[in-house]
Amino acid sequence: MIEKHTNSLSLRFFQNLLKYREICHFVSTRSGGFSNPPYDSLNLGFHVGDNLETVLKNRERLAVELEVPLSNFTTARQIHGGNVKIITEDSRGKGAFNYDTAISETDAMVTDTLNICLMVLQADCVPILFFDPKKRIIGVVHAGWRGTVQLVAQNTVRVLKRKFNCLTDDILVGIGPSIGPCCYLVGQETILQIEKAFDNKREYINNSLGGKGYFNLWEANKMQLVQMGISERNIEIAKVCTRCNHTNFFSYRHQRGETGRFGAGIMLRI
Ligand SMILES: [Zn+2]
Repeated sequence: MIEKHTNSLSLRFFQNLLKYREICHFVSTRSGGFSNPPYDSLNLGFHVGDNLETVLKNRERLAVELEVPLSNFTTARQIHGGNVKIITEDSRGKGAFNYDTAISETDAMVTDTLNICLMVLQADCVPILFFDPKKRIIGVVHAGWRGTVQLVAQNTVRVLKRKFNCLTDDILVGIGPSIGPCCYLVGQETILQIEKAFDNKREYINNSLGGKGYFNLWEANKMQLVQMGISERNIEIAKVCTRCNHTNFFSYRHQRGETGRFGAGIMLRI
């Protein structure tokens, strides 16, 4: 990932996606917004208890910096699930100005429609961006441990292949900042579900202590994609832990649940 400072914001970008003029993408940080603690300051989530007008101001600031009208953003009511929705013209702007109109119950969105900025929101969960430059298809995924064990990243690739005829060789992926294997301590119940999802393999759990262990969300998601046929060299992992870097990113764990959300988004523009 590289960091760029615009007029008022500090944004991050995947190097493997930056060279394509036909898309615009970003990962936002928590600086440059208007929200007060514990949402300070660029909270983009309407659903976390922050003042709604302030969230709107934050989103407008991001939209201005990206030169993408906020009315072109589409967001979802994320539920830590495994399903994927295909977004079409009639969903442009859903969830952009309020939570009620957001795409219901999905953690992954895919589109081939121009000028729809698909955005997922997170604070420790991992955002994943997809782009197929040949077929001109984009996708976003929000995956915490629940979405990861429900194979939401793999489900997204399946939709790209089946509905849009994407070839896995062509698909580029960016795995964004999230809680890292340094900090993501999970309990026995979660470990059981992770093992079940990944054929009893324990390679994504490190340093098990007293039934607990550190879960590697980045590897667990990357390997899902590799298993689908995506080349490792097409996958860029930010390797930025949101908990270690809680001054730059919202971290649910660091702030014990009361915090804002940063965004990750992608849009086809030509
Ligand atoms: Zn960490």
